[in-house]
Amino acid sequence: MTDAAPAEALAPAEAEASPHGVAASLHARGSPLAPAATQLRRLAEAAPELPAFADRLAAAGLPPLTRAPLQVFQVNLGKLCNMTCRHCHVDAGPDRAAETMSRETLQLCLDAIDRCAPAAVDVTGGAPELNPHFRWFVAECAARGLHVMDRCNLTVLTLPRFVDLPGFFAEHGVEVVASLPHWRRPSTDKQRGDGTFDRSIDALRRLNAVGYGAGDPRRVLTLVHNPVGAFLPSGQASMEKEWKIGLLRDHDVRFDRLIALNNMPIARFLDSLDAQGTTGDYLRQLHAAFNPAAVPGLMCRDTVSIGWDGQVFDCDFNQMLELPLSGVGHVRDLSPERLGPPVTARHCFGCTAGAGSSCGGATT
Ligand code: SF4
Ligand code: SF4
Repeated sequence: MTDAAPAEALAPAEAEASPHGVAASLHARGSPLAPAATQLRRLAEAAPELPAFADRLAAAGLPPLTRAPLQVFQVNLGKLCNMTCRHCHVDAGPDRAAETMSRETLQLCLDAIDRCAPAAVDVTGGAPELNPHFRWFVAECAARGLHVMDRCNLTVLTLPRFVDLPGFFAEHGVEVVASLPHWRRPSTDKQRGDGTFDRSIDALRRLNAVGYGAGDPRRVLTLVHNPVGAFLPSGQASMEKEWKIGLLRDHDVRFDRLIALNNMPIARFLDSLDAQGTTGDYLRQLHAAFNPAAVPGLMCRDTVSIGWDGQVFDCDFNQMLELPLSGVGHVRDLSPERLGPPVTARHCFGCTAGAGSSCGGATT
């Protein structure tokens, strides 16, 4: 198979209406905040009195971050998305078709997975399902006996060409990690655009119909919450109880677990903070909520994150800020013994605030 032309990966009718004036990605708007270097500079300047992340660890009596054995191999299949959510830390959108991982790079990822032997493969984007090689890659990972997680925005499952994906996921035992800002319609539509909530419920029902959300370990449905604003999420466990009751009662929808993420002050969330003049306040809030107990569970300790072009990073956030993992470079050269200590910067306070925040939710 050859690479499909990435620009054909999303038909115009498949792009969702942009929410609340978010006309396009920062990239497409030519925003001065689009370059990663500008975002890093903005984070440094917005609250200059705050210490470096590494110094905050030391002040708490903690050693510098080190790596644990690799568990999670995360692959970003591209920045193309059918949505343009206002909080997106990837700056994804319908205009980013050019940044789609090729079949050749996906094969290099599989080769690296064989060398590194992680426990899980975390497939993300953009909307990873829009990559023309998505099903092939997922099937290859599942055939290796790996736990595969698909980071799904739910609305993509309602596009006509993807309505069979729930069955594909069930067949391959894929954990669906589905983003839903809130179980109530207004909060979800505020962040993702009008109509998103109803389409998400439609997608969740399709997943329930093929066995997801019923406690089957091969058909796990995880929902991902992030706050609709510049504040930290409340308790993950209590929210899960509330969401399970609310979604079942009001929408006849079941799910297995809820994870709560802090909003990371990068890309479009940083843009919205800047627009409100609250970037410094949010950084101070994250810093004030620094929780030493969240440090051992930081995802950068046991994860690698591969960008659409094959570059290797410690985590999704470092990938978006173009802070490469020390000692590797490209996925073709990735092996466990080459993994250096995680690279940190000011945004890392987003991972250690409150209950902690990682791709798997709270870290405490
Ligand atoms: S937050 Fe997710 S669904 Fe929304 S634009 Fe970004 S990648 Fe797409
Ligand atoms: S942003 Fe990445 S490198 Fe920084 S603490 Fe979080 S997971 Fe680790």
